[in-house]
Amino acid sequence: MSVLITGGAGFIGSHLIDHLLAETDDRVVVLDDFSTGNAANLAHLDTDRVETVDGDVRDGSLVTDLVADSDAVYHLAAAVGVKTIVENPLDSIRTNLKGTENVLEAAAADATPTFIASSSEVYGKSESVPFAEDDDRVYGPTTSPRWGYATAKAADEFLALGHHSEHDLPVVVGRYFNIVGPRQTGQYGMVIPTFVEQALAGDDLTVYGDGTQTRSFTHVAEAVSITHELLTTPEAHGRVFNVGTPDPTSINDLATRVIELTDSDSGITHVPFAEAYSEDFEEPDEREPDVSKLRDVLGRTPTVELDRILH
Ligand code: NAD
Repeated sequence: MSVLITGGAGFIGSHLIDHLLAETDDRVVVLDDFSTGNAANLAHLDTDRVETVDGDVRDGSLVTDLVADSDAVYHLAAAVGVKTIVENPLDSIRTNLKGTENVLEAAAADATPTFIASSSEVYGKSESVPFAEDDDRVYGPTTSPRWGYATAKAADEFLALGHHSEHDLPVVVGRYFNIVGPRQTGQYGMVIPTFVEQALAGDDLTVYGDGTQTRSFTHVAEAVSITHELLTTPEAHGRVFNVGTPDPTSINDLATRVIELTDSDSGITHVPFAEAYSEDFEEPDEREPDVSKLRDVLGRTPTVELDRILH
């Protein structure tokens, strides 16, 4: 089989390649513009089973040609990271909307099985946990700069489900919750690599807000294995799944654990959100997935604990 991974030079995409090479005989074609992705993420791949195309998912004819040659598509390309989203909201929206539409339209032509990467950001500031996939507050707009990214991801989901119902496209949507692991960098505001870099340098760890907010850190190896299984499970098609650990951690606890594990003398400095990004920037207090749907369909959920992720 030939598999197309958009955003394959990124963090999750490069782990998905590793997984597919190890678990299948698939050939992989990567489409990436190397905006946040990096050739270094692919440097360990010593195989002729992977081909890289340097291009943009917003380029409709390029996407059409690549999808036509593929037996399955994983669409991960997106403008990501809090900094990118806050500084370039339009670019983030356009890449998400146009890129996803290009992929879905091309896939619908041959009913090519397609995975669409969405995000827990679609839950906005919903305050009741655990989050359930059919929470009807999901698509309510928020006023923070995250709105662009969150609503574009939500629109991507609608586009995917629309292609399923109108064109019988075998498509599945995965809402990723704070995927973490090797090759993730702190450059775009990702919390674990940022904390580790600060702890190793002996600098104070910067915690935004009061640090009591919780996140569900999910190991990338589990996320990509679940991603692959979702796309290859027909019962999952036409549906949306939370992909995240049901075991959340507060940012204060995360910072403390990083300091302990790195044996660092660093302290913790709390910085108001408004000083971190922009005045109207807000973070949800809790983010925790309801994983019952994943358990029902795949019979499993992410299980790797934070300490194993940090090691
Ligand atoms: P990443 O930045 O490492 O990967 C995104 C990749 O897409 C990069 O390689 C980048 O160069 C590429 N890209 C961006 N714009 C492009 C364009 N116009 N054309 C072609 N390629 C383009 O980020 P990631 O964490 O690996 O995220 C992968 C996907 O998962 C994204 O869709 C993201 O929104 C989603 N997601 C990730 C997380 C997480 O915790 N990492 C959480 C929720 C959702």
